[in-house]
Amino acid sequence: MPAFRDNYLWLIVDSTGSRAMVVDPGDARAIERALAAASLSLDAILLTHHHSDHTGGVAALVARRGCPVYGPGADPIEGIDHALGDGDRVALPDFDIDFEVIAVPGHTLGHIAYYGRRLGGDDPRGVLFCGDTLFAAGCGRLFEGTPAQMHRSLERLASLPPDTLVYCAHEYTLSNLAFASAAEPGSSAVSARLAEARVVRDRDIPTVPSAIGIERQTNPFLRTDSLAVIARLAERGVGGEAGPVERFAALRAWKDEF
Ligand SMILES: [Zn+2]
Repeated sequence: MPAFRDNYLWLIVDSTGSRAMVVDPGDARAIERALAAASLSLDAILLTHHHSDHTGGVAALVARRGCPVYGPGADPIEGIDHALGDGDRVALPDFDIDFEVIAVPGHTLGHIAYYGRRLGGDDPRGVLFCGDTLFAAGCGRLFEGTPAQMHRSLERLASLPPDTLVYCAHEYTLSNLAFASAAEPGSSAVSARLAEARVVRDRDIPTVPSAIGIERQTNPFLRTDSLAVIARLAERGVGGEAGPVERFAALRAWKDEF
């Protein structure tokens, strides 16, 4: 569900179409409207990090629905009753999906992502709810963590299977692809993705979910080893002695002012 200016709140519905869980409910009213429209119960809340556009609806939803709240133990969030850290699992028996928690510090220090695998069904693709860490063609700002932490977090997400669907929390794709075009000029994969995203956004359709495979081909923050990116950074004064973390930090700083 779209919320605020450019957020996406994700509702996961079970196979019977009667139960839902929500990821990062920044706005309780948007969630309540969607639950009411489809006569869904709310069985769980999953949180990725502490920013209010991801957590603002938690208190109202819990007061009304009394559902459990899963979230990062290392981020300051009130109301979590299942504190999670790297390697933990979230098993919700009524949903045919099993989540593994991946710690992804950088945007915030306690940020976590949920990597889910469907149990049964005929779609083998995994799903990733990654909050503000990995975006379609971009990544979150470093509000709390270091470039080394964020680079490592993104590397871990990039190593998931290429067909993993990426459910990020904002519609930033067009502006991210404009930056990707500047960071890796001449990339036909980036140009093709930008053309496709323009068509989709003109029709007011979300560009997400993305997939890990297309991110590895077009997301400059996962492409610090690309010769074109290295050459572009060299033009901006990042010398040949810089390693992947320094190149990532330079890209992120460049994007901050892009
Ligand atoms: Zn955030």
